[in-house]
Amino acid sequence: MRILIISDIHANAAALEAVLSQADPHDAVWCLGDLVGYGPDPNECVARIRALPNLTCLSGNHDKAVLGEIDPDTFNDDARSVIIWTRNALSAENLDYLRELPVELAIGDFTLVHGSPRQPVWEYILNRSIACENFPYIETPYCLIGHSHIAGGFGEGVPCFDVPPDYANPLALTEQRLILNPGGVGQPRDQNPMPAFAILDTEAHTWQYRRASYDPRVTQRRMLDMNFPERLVLRLAYGW
Ligand code: ZN
Repeated sequence: MRILIISDIHANAAALEAVLSQADPHDAVWCLGDLVGYGPDPNECVARIRALPNLTCLSGNHDKAVLGEIDPDTFNDDARSVIIWTRNALSAENLDYLRELPVELAIGDFTLVHGSPRQPVWEYILNRSIACENFPYIETPYCLIGHSHIAGGFGEGVPCFDVPPDYANPLALTEQRLILNPGGVGQPRDQNPMPAFAILDTEAHTWQYRRASYDPRVTQRRMLDMNFPERLVLRLAYGW
């Protein structure tokens, strides 16, 4: 089975559409949370995700904040203002959908969380030492995460090590335990503004990093129309 892995759509419909239309053929979609927050298209994105066939979807910290399950005051001012805007913009049906999403799942060899296996909603795995602390919490060979919006992975070992993304060659999934992040769809933060995703092939045992291409100005114009914070608008062009 070939699975499209996406995370951190962040209400950026143009980026999501680019991924869905440019992704390699796949049989299922796993979404690692943060469907909304930061971006201008929460209803469009939740509706598009919900309608995908063979979808498995998690909740992220922004989804929880929009639902009132996390205090918006724990976010910075820019993020908080869009969380509150999103809460009012989302339809009751889409809010109900977000409320049903789990924060952690295990499917076969894979544990799925938004943040980390130790703290599924909140913790960022940004380096190999944080990754190393998290491996004991994973009961499967591999763990898939989002949240940092940075494509790449970490391997378990002494010491734990980085697995930088290779867009040209698939990563072979061997007995090496790994934490893998496909990167962010709607607000990438690895100096590349193009929407990130991955294709997991459970028969070939491979993980392939990918980037879609889109015009961030489409989303930026919508954010400006709605008076979103300037910093959130600007960052989409730079990938930070
Ligand atoms: Zn996010």
